[in-house]
Amino acid sequence: MVEIKTDAALEAMREAGRVVAHALAAVRDAAAVGVGLDELDGVARDVLDKAGARSPFLGYHPSFAPAPFPAVICASVNDAIVHGIPDGYRLRDGDLVSIDCGAVLDGWTGDAAISFVVGTADPADEALIDSTRQALEAGIAAATVGNRIGDISHAIGGVARAARRGMPADFGGHGIGRRMHEEPHVPNSGLPGRGYRLRHGLVLAIEPMLIAGGRDDYRADPDGWTLRTTDGSRAAHVEHTVAITDDGPRILTLP
Ligand code: MG
Ligand code: MG
Repeated sequence: MVEIKTDAALEAMREAGRVVAHALAAVRDAAAVGVGLDELDGVARDVLDKAGARSPFLGYHPSFAPAPFPAVICASVNDAIVHGIPDGYRLRDGDLVSIDCGAVLDGWTGDAAISFVVGTADPADEALIDSTRQALEAGIAAATVGNRIGDISHAIGGVARAARRGMPADFGGHGIGRRMHEEPHVPNSGLPGRGYRLRHGLVLAIEPMLIAGGRDDYRADPDGWTLRTTDGSRAAHVEHTVAITDDGPRILTLP
């Protein structure tokens, strides 16, 4: 069932989203050559704790995973696409890092992700991140009252295909509210004009994940969580929680 939020709920979700934005900014600031992914998780934990927020990632245990997720961020480096577990790996010069973070504040959830390069960036990685951000912007621009889910999917997929990037077909965005994952699913490619019609008060997490090599397939690490490209090429993942409103799309996960 798709839950339409009241305007009061949208304001509460804006506050949850603000916490997520602050956590991601703190992680971005802390990320440097030699810093451990587990240290970045600690940075995000501090931000959530100080804000009185809870992590919707920590302890999350979907059916596909062998164990509950042990951290408050996903940290996916280089050929990892999404769902990387922040372990003791220390960042190296030129690593492409995607950080996904969520927060629950006063019962409402925010969910967002950023991709960036640590140290000296390979121009190819910058181009991949740029196309992933453009896909997100196109998806958000299509998140307007009267459009359908398929219009968002089509906008994201169009940018990805034009840039000759791959995308893992089984993963995409989602409704979000009191729970992190609600109806409807928001595929990252699809036909325009299809699917659930967007209306004021619908809140979606929109999250393109692009694979540099152009292939769509992926594999899971033995940990059951981390998804990697099969060709070893790098991936980027960016996400915002976005409210559909009569005044246009409103990004809730901004500072
Ligand atoms: Mg996320
Ligand atoms: Mg999400």
